[in-house]
Amino acid sequence: MVTKRKAELYGEHAIATIVEATCDICGADCMKELFKPMKSDGDRDEHDINKVFEGMELKAVWDYGSDSDGEIWEAVVCEKCVKKHLEKLIPFVKRPY
Ligand SMILES: [Zn+2]
Repeated sequence: MVTKRKAELYGEHAIATIVEATCDICGADCMKELFKPMKSDGDRDEHDINKVFEGMELKAVWDYGSDSDGEIWEAVVCEKCVKKHLEKLIPFVKRPY
């Protein structure tokens, strides 16, 4: 689940970026470090460790025609679980961005 987001500006658009999330299948942390300080860089607390969300967000807003009318379902799945479980069930459309 996503436990924290922060608003970031991309041009004119504010996007709620995920800053804390765990996989709803295995419980793994879905935030991955972009920069790993070496021991020679000193105390890692002195460095701004940039983490990015690496996972899949799932969301369904169930409406009138559904048996779950009025409910919003959300989940986060880590990359490993997407590959291990979902990729076998769902023929994802994959494209470069
Ligand atoms: Zn997982």
